[in-house]
Amino acid sequence: MKLIDCHTHLHDFKETELPEVILRANRAKVAAIITAGTTIESSKKAIKISKSYDHVFPGVGIHPNELKESFSEESVTQILELASLDEVIMISEIGLDFMENSPDRGIQYTAFRRQIGIARELSLPIVFHCREAYEDTIRVLKEERAFEVGGAMHYFQGDQLIADQLIDLGFYVSLGRPLIRMPELQKVTSNIPINRILIETDSFPQPFKKYRQNWTEPRHVRDVANEIARIKNIGIEEVATITSHNTLQMLKTALTLRSHFESEPNYSEI
Ligand SMILES: [Zn+2]
Repeated sequence: MKLIDCHTHLHDFKETELPEVILRANRAKVAAIITAGTTIESSKKAIKISKSYDHVFPGVGIHPNELKESFSEESVTQILELASLDEVIMISEIGLDFMENSPDRGIQYTAFRRQIGIARELSLPIVFHCREAYEDTIRVLKEERAFEVGGAMHYFQGDQLIADQLIDLGFYVSLGRPLIRMPELQKVTSNIPINRILIETDSFPQPFKKYRQNWTEPRHVRDVANEIARIKNIGIEEVATITSHNTLQMLKTALTLRSHFESEPNYSEI
C-alpha cells in the first residue's frame, strides 16, 4: 500500500522534528508528502525541505490569510521564479477566505487570479483553500480558466452542490480528517466518484493540543483513507491505489513525484 498526503505544511514543524515526522509517515505507508508554502519565505522553505527528504515534494504560493497590504508585482515575480524550479510540482496554497477578519477581499481576488495565471503559464495544477467563499471560488476558477491546469479544493467540507460543480470543472476534492467526524461530509463523500477524491492532512504544529502525540501529522492520512474505505465499502488498499493514482493524474507534469512514486517499494509487499 502506498498513500500520498497531498497537502501539508511541513515547513511549520521544527526542523529537528522533521526526520521523525517523515519516518512515522513512512511507517504508516505514506509514500509521498506534498508540502505547501503559504508565503514567499515558507515556499522557499518547502523547496528546501523537499531537497532534504526523498518523500517530500513542494508547492509554492501565497495563502489568502497571509495577504497584507497588496499583492504586488514583486510577489508575482517571486512566485513565478520559485514555481519555475524543476522540483516544484504545484501552485499551493492559494485561494479565498471570506471569514470575518480575513484580509481585504479585493486583494484576495487579485492574488488568487494572478497565482492561477502563474499556474497556467507553467502548466502546474493548483491546490486551493476555500472558506465561506464557495460561489466566488467557483466563479474565479471559471473566469480564469483554472480548469485548464486542474487541481483540487483542499480540506473539502462543502456540500453536494459544490462538490458537483468542482467535479464538472474537472477538479478533484481533497478530504482531510474532518471527514471522520462530520456525518454530512460522509454523505457527500458517498456520492463523490472515488476517481475524483484525494486525501490529505493539512498538518501543521498544534501546540494548543495537550499531548504532542495528538498533533495531526502526514501519517494520519491513513485514517482518512480508512474512513473512505468504510464509506465506499471497499478495502483501504484500493483507496490508497486510487487516490494515489488520482494525485499522479492531477500532477501530470510532476515527473519528480511520478518517478519517485513508481520506484518507491510497495509497502504492502514488505
Ligand atoms: Zn493548508
